[in-house]
Amino acid sequence: MIYMDNAATTRMSRTAAEVMQPYFTEAYGNPSAIYQTGRRSKEAIRKSRAVISRMLGAKQDEIFFTSGGTESDNWALTAALEAGIEKGKHMITSRIEHPAVLRTCEYLARTRGAEITYLEPDHSGMIHPEAAAAAIRSDTVLLSVMTANNEVGTIQPVAELGRLAHENGILFHTDAVQAFGHIPLDVNEMEIDLLSASGHKFSGPKGCGFLFIRKGTGLGALMRGGAQEFNRRAGTENVPGIVGMGAAAEEADAAMGQRAQYETELRDYMIRRMMEELPGTRLNGHPEHRLPNNINLQFPGLSAETALIRLDLQGICASAGSACASGSLDPSHVLLAMGCSAKAARQSVRFTISHETTQEEADCVVEAMKQIAGIQN
Ligand code: PLP
Repeated sequence: MIYMDNAATTRMSRTAAEVMQPYFTEAYGNPSAIYQTGRRSKEAIRKSRAVISRMLGAKQDEIFFTSGGTESDNWALTAALEAGIEKGKHMITSRIEHPAVLRTCEYLARTRGAEITYLEPDHSGMIHPEAAAAAIRSDTVLLSVMTANNEVGTIQPVAELGRLAHENGILFHTDAVQAFGHIPLDVNEMEIDLLSASGHKFSGPKGCGFLFIRKGTGLGALMRGGAQEFNRRAGTENVPGIVGMGAAAEEADAAMGQRAQYETELRDYMIRRMMEELPGTRLNGHPEHRLPNNINLQFPGLSAETALIRLDLQGICASAGSACASGSLDPSHVLLAMGCSAKAARQSVRFTISHETTQEEADCVVEAMKQIAGIQN
């Protein structure tokens, strides 16, 4: 198998899988219990929280473990609207957010009377701070723009957006699910109030993520019950998941520069070969402000669906649009928002590599695409 769908999920790091193991069968005590095995679980959670908060420049009690990116996004948006209710119900986000943000905005508009402004990206998938500035109103309570797009990999001007939000007394949320563990993030330098992340996007386990909530933002609890997660997200913690995610985060942090450099070189090599050897191929997303692992290409005359099926027959995993949208024939909402035609969107394939992807694998995928396009060597 050649796996080029790391934006959908990643293979778990061996270290992360190993350190999780004891928490299933040996140290399975409830972290809220006072006896030794419970205290061991509690200490393991504390360690993961310490690693993650350090990576972001956050305080330990600003990190709240959740079941993943979707839960973190739902919590951030819903609670930010509630916290700002005295000021108003206007929220600003972008057209290219993940469904976890878009569907939550629609829900809040339908059920809570929220008014949402959707910022349009430019042709490279970039959201411009000037567009955000123009959308701000006296009743705006939240600006939510993702750190990097999951489909085309464009990295947003997060620090500028954060500064803009704060100059206007607005909370700033960023969905960093594709960015955390891959590019450096600092919640203070970037003036971020709320940040969502997910373990399985950086070689941690699935079903485990976190939300950073800056102290003093007044955000309420997601779930009521026990006192877990500083009384804001009740329920017995996913101890093995949190431990695995912490270990994966630590590894990703230590290797970040090296991995990013390797992936960027391989990414650009693959893009170059595809564009040179498959005439008419175009790059979707920003050529430079782009995640190191993202290759999203338009292949004129080629149906992405057919290409994916034929790649799969050769053991190659890639994707068209996001995983959540696959199975539906709708063209990607991200590519449409960027100005692509529906036809061009249906001819676009996303390959997302990792630090484990080899050049031989990249070559194999280029050759497979050439074969699918009917190009002879
Ligand atoms: N946000 C973005 C940008 C994503 O790419 C994803 C997953 O694809 C999510 C949120 C949802 O994360 P999770 O799968 O952890 O719920």
